[in-house]
Amino acid sequence: QDDPIPFVRFPNGAEVPALGQGTWAMGEDAGHAMAEIESLKAGIDLGMTLIDTAEMYGDGGAEEIVGQAIKGRRDEVFIVSKVYPWNASLTGTVEACEHSLERLGTDRIDLYLLHWRGSHPLAETVAAFEMLKASGKIGAWGVSNFDTGDMEELLGVPDGANVAANQVLYNLSRRGIEFDLLPWCQSRSIPVMAYSPIEQGHILHHPELIRIAKAYQATPAQLALAFLLERDGVIVIPKTSSAARAAENRDCVSLEITDEDWQALDAAFPPPAKKKPLEML
Ligand code: NDP
Repeated sequence: QDDPIPFVRFPNGAEVPALGQGTWAMGEDAGHAMAEIESLKAGIDLGMTLIDTAEMYGDGGAEEIVGQAIKGRRDEVFIVSKVYPWNASLTGTVEACEHSLERLGTDRIDLYLLHWRGSHPLAETVAAFEMLKASGKIGAWGVSNFDTGDMEELLGVPDGANVAANQVLYNLSRRGIEFDLLPWCQSRSIPVMAYSPIEQGHILHHPELIRIAKAYQATPAQLALAFLLERDGVIVIPKTSSAARAAENRDCVSLEITDEDWQALDAAFPPPAKKKPLEML
């Protein structure tokens, strides 16, 4: 019955839903574990089968929550995890990945990202990623919080062109990447993963977002997510620990916004007129 979630294709041919699920702040409090697992499971049932996590979240706890949520259904989901920059040496990356695999209870991470740039040379991290790919422990690798200049530099290192994704801060109130990074990635068919797509809830009280959403009997969160889903090659990963909100977020795919209302949204949340350095949370 539900409208299908659009798909985004990775350079290696893997297709994933453009709407997935985040896990930041999960696995921090045992009292919340049940709700977190139920919410992720509900999201998977609704087709949000891409799950984004990291060794950082809950100090490994989020990966354990994901492991619980995907038990018995590994082949239904596409798992994204991330290595800390200070672990991203040749051997450190491999070790960190193995620990993540253990916590996730699986033998493969579909997409493994460098969480942000650190002091280990990119060439070393990329070499480690390629080793992990060759051994089948990861399906593909990518980066996070890389601005256009970082991406250019990455393409200059051996195998750097194998980068499969760049995960960055992108939402209505953070449109800077539309000026150069987003078109740069789109023109090279490198998917962009939009993190904090509802600005961790902070944009939901914006009067114009509320007004336009109401006109469609939608919620501000749904409109904010629909805005991102409009873009080619963008994967949106809202986080929620509530199954009801997972369903609400999933329903954003049914919104059909008029050009006039997109323009009203542009007026309230203007696109960038010049290059802005990439912001991060
Ligand atoms: P989001 O923009 O996804 O917002 C999450 C917050 O919004 C939570 O507090 C959640 O609360 C609430 N929320 C979710 N859905 C709704 C809704 N429909 N209505 C009202 N409130 C809602 O922020 P995140 O920072 O979590 O970003 C998403 C994911 O992106 C992360 O979880 C993580 O996986 C990834 N990320 C990656 C980063 C990187 O550096 N690569 C940095 C930041 C995030 P509740 O759970 O109670 O529903």
